Amino acid sequence: MLTPAVYAGSFDPVTNGHMDIIRRARDVFGAVIVLVMPNACKRPLFTAQERVELLRQALQGEENVRVEATEGLLTDYLKKNGLKVLVRGLRGEGDLEHELVNAFYNKQFYASAETVFLPGRPEYAFLSSSAVREAFSYGADVSALVPPGVAEALQRKKRF
Ligand code: ADP
Repeated sequence: MLTPAVYAGSFDPVTNGHMDIIRRARDVFGAVIVLVMPNACKRPLFTAQERVELLRQALQGEENVRVEATEGLLTDYLKKNGLKVLVRGLRGEGDLEHELVNAFYNKQFYASAETVFLPGRPEYAFLSSSAVREAFSYGADVSALVPPGVAEALQRKKRF
């Protein structure tokens, strides 16, 4: 029986960089749960439900990938669901320090938790949800950076 790895993030919105990590994590661990988390530091563009739906749409047809959401502590989600492997993407040095802190706290709160890092692809090294949101807010065409359903959802946001 496969124990899925968990790839948690705010995914506001999911980008092609996230999609790459999701597929590679699935290929390494056999199965992956993409977990949509709230992010207290960021004002979300999409609601958690919208972020889940955009991920599900982008991942339609992908085997052994499931999308879920939680509002609580990540380690509580792991404990409750009998999971322990966390996958994180590393774009570069900038991510590393912050991700090591996250890994420390997750281990602190749940001793069985293990964090595994996957290096991001160089072509996505500068791609982040926040950069996509910012560029979009000034009218940029971000359709090459996100799955097609996300580009459409962004266009719909623009109309309201
Ligand atoms: P973002 O940093 O884009 O706002 P999240 O907070 O949802 O995204 O990040 C979730 C995880 O995805 C983190 O481990 C982050 O480092 C990783 N990640 C985000 N964008 C990329 C990318 N372009 N390439 C590789 N990993 C990424």
